[in-house]
Amino acid sequence: MAGFFAKSLLGRHGDSSANVPTDLTAQNDPALRIQLLDSFENAGLGWFWATDADGVLTYLSKSAMEKHGWTVADLGGKPFADLFTAESDDEDGQGERPLAFLLRARNSITQFAARLAGTEEDLWWEIAGKPVFDAGNRFCGYRGSARDCTEALKAQRDAKHQAQYDTLTGLANRHRMAKRLGETLTIYRNAKRSCALVALDLDRFKQVNDTLGHPAGDELLKQVAARLERIVGETGMIGRLDGDKFQIVLPDMDDRGLVGELGSRIIQMVSQPYSINGSRAIVGASIGVAIAPYDGLDTGELMTAADLALEAAKGGGRGQYRFYSSDLKDGAKMRRRTEMDLRDALVRKELRMLYQPIIDAKTHKMKALEALMRWEHPERGNISPAEFIPVAEDIGIIKQMGDWALHEVCRQAQEWPLELRVAVNVSTIQFAHDDFPQVVQRALQASGLDPRRLELEITESVFMGDGGRTQRIFEELKALGVRLALDDFGTGYSSLSYLQTAPFDKIKIDQSFVRGATEDGNNNAAIMSAIVGLAEALGMETVAEGVETKDELALVTNRRAESIQGYIFSRAITHQELLARLERGELQYEPRGPAKFRAQRKSVFRRVGLIHEDYRYRVVLRNISKTGAMVEGLLNVPLGTQVVVDLGGGQLAVATVRRSSAHTQGLEFETPLISDGAEGLCTRHRVSPYQIEAAGRPLAALPQDAYSLIAGGHGQAAAPRRFMQVEPHPPR
Ligand code: C2E
Ligand code: CA
Ligand code: CA
Repeated sequence: MAGFFAKSLLGRHGDSSANVPTDLTAQNDPALRIQLLDSFENAGLGWFWATDADGVLTYLSKSAMEKHGWTVADLGGKPFADLFTAESDDEDGQGERPLAFLLRARNSITQFAARLAGTEEDLWWEIAGKPVFDAGNRFCGYRGSARDCTEALKAQRDAKHQAQYDTLTGLANRHRMAKRLGETLTIYRNAKRSCALVALDLDRFKQVNDTLGHPAGDELLKQVAARLERIVGETGMIGRLDGDKFQIVLPDMDDRGLVGELGSRIIQMVSQPYSINGSRAIVGASIGVAIAPYDGLDTGELMTAADLALEAAKGGGRGQYRFYSSDLKDGAKMRRRTEMDLRDALVRKELRMLYQPIIDAKTHKMKALEALMRWEHPERGNISPAEFIPVAEDIGIIKQMGDWALHEVCRQAQEWPLELRVAVNVSTIQFAHDDFPQVVQRALQASGLDPRRLELEITESVFMGDGGRTQRIFEELKALGVRLALDDFGTGYSSLSYLQTAPFDKIKIDQSFVRGATEDGNNNAAIMSAIVGLAEALGMETVAEGVETKDELALVTNRRAESIQGYIFSRAITHQELLARLERGELQYEPRGPAKFRAQRKSVFRRVGLIHEDYRYRVVLRNISKTGAMVEGLLNVPLGTQVVVDLGGGQLAVATVRRSSAHTQGLEFETPLISDGAEGLCTRHRVSPYQIEAAGRPLAALPQDAYSLIAGGHGQAAAPRRFMQVEPHPPR
């Protein structure tokens, strides 16, 4: 029996045991229709409901009331809409208007999902209904049907969740990231807000997969996701695109100083070791940053920009962040060229080994040499191994190159008139090959070099893989009689445990510990002492790398590093130069270098704009540091003059003239520049494309000459020109 309130719209129905006719002629039989509806209600296939003109319930199927434990007293006089909350089934909160609104508007309702109010449980109804009018066209209420759609909605939500989230890490997936970024950018564009996009890629993730297996790789990705969530928190949205590629959207972020700080914090956190089912794994991270609207307006443009910046960060040696700039497009082309050319470099005999002396800290005599690879590119000149070794690792030719280096160095060292030791760098990828000890053995045999003269420099990342296998390779190498050195000690994941288990003869203290160790309040010197003490206790030699200045030399000598490698004694020299030196018996070195390390001033020769009282001069940038720059091109500018340096790409730096002689000015920046993640410097903020738009131009990502667009060509002629412009000297 159906439920009744004040009045029944359906009316009492007859005996439910009436015979069901066998043809369709009974369609007009009201008793039969009621009977069918009744069985429909009772079977739980759906319910009927009705309201009066005020939206108050006048009918609801009894089965619905029974299911939810409602009584006539509960529902009598209650508006239908009050059975439901105003919640929407759309998780993004952009759902439809609430039911009450639709009812008031006398709209037809179809497939409207509403959540039942007053229940702990998450119960949803799918509602349909039509307004009813009497003969005089007066609205008399609604009649409709409903059904429980809780299960269907849940299934639908699960499917939607799966389509939008990464099942492994629970982060948003590629689709959701693109969708949300697109929505954000559209809204922000109208509100003139900015949004940063961070693209992150793990370094050496493939090695974890290859050596520890895919389940371990999956576990590592989960842990990376958890660390990212801890760092980013509420400030942004994180997603995993696929594999080891992550993305972070940071709304209202246009300060490159802050994004850079976040970037280095992320890299540092992600690079800490992971514990995976008892194994230790280490990966690094590279980051590319692009900021809307400066670097791109829409999702596509911004993602391309962030990816280019990421590629540049990886190309620059990894473990770095990099901001997008328009010249990275050339960088990406360059990287593809490097990849192509590098494959031919070996066959075309463009690789050379140079040798940097390692000097005894007490006697200043050459004790040994480190072999460093150089690529003499026919057009581009010498290319640094920091640039091409990571590429060689990526494209899978590092083993060939490394094997060649071992043969070449053994052969050349055998020609030396003195029995000096020589160190060769070994990439972790090369080391991980099963036949590595055999390759070393063949190089020794082919050259006839005494194994005790050969030292292999490896980095801590070799410990990341299968511990048993690594140990076996160590043993096989020691059995050959070669020496092992731990390179770049102190960069990131130094662990004392493997120093004790691995048979190292030498520890090389990374130059990042030497640099800055002489500054006040820096504890690098203390760490250096600790490393030296530890090495002594374990019977290992120590080398301090990258010593450039007199005060650094004094410090590392003081801290009892046994050997020193650095520009203060010598850069890497060619094999011919070395041979000549050794033949002359010149082993003694004099320290030569600046007294102190100075914040790096980069020598450059680049045309930039210098704006003074609305007039834009063209000058040449001679050098630049975080706090100031030297420019050439204007005559007799008084001290204290306020200017604005236009560094291109919308980067304007307010500065004061602090030194001035003839056509050269020393400028001090009002706000220090920040690191661009690589060698370069950039401004925290840039001219906003919204400003350019306000000056009557179409909204677009920043062009190189952004400033001229806000200043406009006009006015330039009228602006007073106070200083005389002179042609600077060509690059020295
Ligand atoms: P590394 O093994 O740490 O080598 C030392 C690097 O520091 C060399 O750079 C050297 O020129 C530089 N250096 C030495 N003294 C100073 C100094 O006083 N100041 C400064 N600023 N730098 C100094 P290089 O030759 O560009 O090599 C870079 C890296 O490339 C090496 O770092 C090494 O990791 C890798 N590499 C070089 N040759 C090979 C090779 O044959 N095989 C492999 N797998 N990697 C190599
Ligand atoms: Ca080295
Ligand atoms: Ca090193």
